[in-house]
Amino acid sequence: MSKQVAPRAWFQSIRDPQERYELDEIVYKAKDGALLEVVHDLGELRKKSADEWKALFKSRNHATEWPFGSGVWGKKEWVLPDIDDDNVVSMYEGNSNLFWAERYGKQELGLSELWIKQCGNTHTGSFKDLGMTVLVSMVKELLQRGKQIPAVACASTGDTSAALAAYSAAAGIPAIVFLPRGKVSIAQLIQPVANGAIVFALDTDFDGCMEIVKQVAENDGVYLANSMNSLRIEGQKTVGIEIVEQCDWKVPDWIVIPGGNLGNVSALAKGFDMMLDLGLIDRKPRIVCAQAEAANPLYLSYQRNFEVFEPIAARPTLASAIQIGNPVSIEKAIDALQRYDGIVEQASESEIADANARADRTGLFNCPHTGVALAALEKLVRGGVIDRDQRVVVVSTAHGLKFVDQKVKYHRMELEGIESMHANPPIELPARYETVRDEMLRQIERRGAP
Ligand SMILES: *Cc1c(COP(=O)(O)O)cnc(C)c1O
Repeated sequence: MSKQVAPRAWFQSIRDPQERYELDEIVYKAKDGALLEVVHDLGELRKKSADEWKALFKSRNHATEWPFGSGVWGKKEWVLPDIDDDNVVSMYEGNSNLFWAERYGKQELGLSELWIKQCGNTHTGSFKDLGMTVLVSMVKELLQRGKQIPAVACASTGDTSAALAAYSAAAGIPAIVFLPRGKVSIAQLIQPVANGAIVFALDTDFDGCMEIVKQVAENDGVYLANSMNSLRIEGQKTVGIEIVEQCDWKVPDWIVIPGGNLGNVSALAKGFDMMLDLGLIDRKPRIVCAQAEAANPLYLSYQRNFEVFEPIAARPTLASAIQIGNPVSIEKAIDALQRYDGIVEQASESEIADANARADRTGLFNCPHTGVALAALEKLVRGGVIDRDQRVVVVSTAHGLKFVDQKVKYHRMELEGIESMHANPPIELPARYETVRDEMLRQIERRGAP
């Protein structure tokens, strides 16, 4: 690829706009340790009007022309403009369903308009695909430009590693993943195993894995694929753009999103920033970041008006992908929440399990992190913070099929300390017509619709 005269996007320190790096430099943090962000040349992007951007994005939805049919790459100019299309590693991520949760919203919460952005309906089953397609594509581009990268690596609570392994395998790039042993679901563990990554199960938690991966990135030249690497955020920010596009460019009143390492809530806000800057929308949603009570350092900071932040040791939670006590993107997340009139809410283990089970009974099949968001939403509606006639979108972060082990336990009433109020275990009977019929009629009579 020919060298650009002026780059259309670059890394920039979130604290010092003067500190910049080109996107093909291998750099994750600013000199003072601040995170970097990808900044786009808005002057360049303003050469198209808001209506032209909307029309372009629409024309590319599900297009066959490589790589624009992907929900991420359909917005390539806003994401990673200076990359050769041939180096894009895409699995047609994004463009996920915005589920009209009519029955759950109206019946369970009394909300007139609830939508659930099903980010788990994607190649590896979580929103991590949105960011990983960008990161792995950049690695492919870097390799082609002659950079020495022996492998890409991440610490993970399960979903980042699945995405990294899949995209790397598709691109033929070695991948290394560090998982906290025994703390990810079976489905999450088997994904990088099956995709041929080098899988380490370490006797620590996520934060401990993060320490290791930072060291191998620093000392051994392995490319860091965690969301500390701001390339990931560029892909993940498309979720907000998709949501608004799916609402015919009307901005919802509230967006509720679960948060752990806090890259995703930062990304959500970044997508809205660009839409506002480029005139595609003229108002902001309010953002709710939802945390598990067992892993709630952001919630604790919010309680003190974000004046202090203290990392904690996160305790085990059903929402295992957000069992994080020392979130990497804390600074970006607090900034995002302050700019989007944000709220942080938390949910206990039984609130998570029950919100999830009730949502499942209206046709959803949610991951526990979505359960955290739904439980937080319920509290805010009950407390009158969210009005019943406001439009709410919940970001569902992973597919429930990744978490069948805990759903099985819920319905068998085997989850410790949880009542399983909505357990629906299979009815075991001998295969005799009369017996089955009697029980069937009794069940229909007793229960009706789920
Ligand atoms: C990674 C992940 C989260 C949390 O996202 P952060 O960017 O770490 O806050 C939430 N839910 C699921 C399913 C995830 O995989």
